Amino acid sequence: MYNIVLFGPPGAGKGTQSEKLIEKYGLTHLSTGDLFRKHLGEGTELGVLAKKYMDEGRLVPDEVVIGMVDDKVNESKNSTQGYIFDGFPRTTAQAEALDKMLAIHGLSISGMIALEVPEDVLKARIIERGKTSNRVDDQDEQKINTRIKVYLDETLPVADFYSKQNKFSKINGVGEIDQIFASISSVIDSY
Ligand code: AMP
Repeated sequence: MYNIVLFGPPGAGKGTQSEKLIEKYGLTHLSTGDLFRKHLGEGTELGVLAKKYMDEGRLVPDEVVIGMVDDKVNESKNSTQGYIFDGFPRTTAQAEALDKMLAIHGLSISGMIALEVPEDVLKARIIERGKTSNRVDDQDEQKINTRIKVYLDETLPVADFYSKQNKFSKINGVGEIDQIFASISSVIDSY
């Protein structure tokens, strides 16, 4: 059973690679961004709360995100071969909470795989995605800059958290999708 954290800034390709990983390894995809967008679309209380943060490119408060992930893990733990966490954890507090919630079920993170992509490439990719994604946060340069800054200030320390546990690997996230996928797969196969 693999429990993988796919890590990287917005636009790094986490969603694209997650789709391929789910297919290859039969993992459950747990993307907090996708879950929030689902709540938003359904107009739930959680969606309404998350919207104001998402629209500005800021992080939704930890307790809200952690509660949502905990619910998802509890409802799927008996029917999964493992998880691919995408866009979560985004703060050290979330990483600590994830370790605790997995430990309750006798599970742990196998490793974090970080996709490295230079800032100019990220911005170009997000702007391109914004033409079709319908995401407000993909369509405004200032919001994109905020998201990258939030990643550098608040999310990057999560890499140290896994590094200290000897669970951190990085991959070049620029190039052919299949090539990047092959690099990720070889890290997973080494677990
Ligand atoms: P994403 O699709 O991963 O880029 O997430 C879109 C937005 O959802 C982010 O800019 C945040 O506002 C919110 N979000 C997603 N995941 C998290 C998380 N783990 N912690 C806090 N906010 C999150």
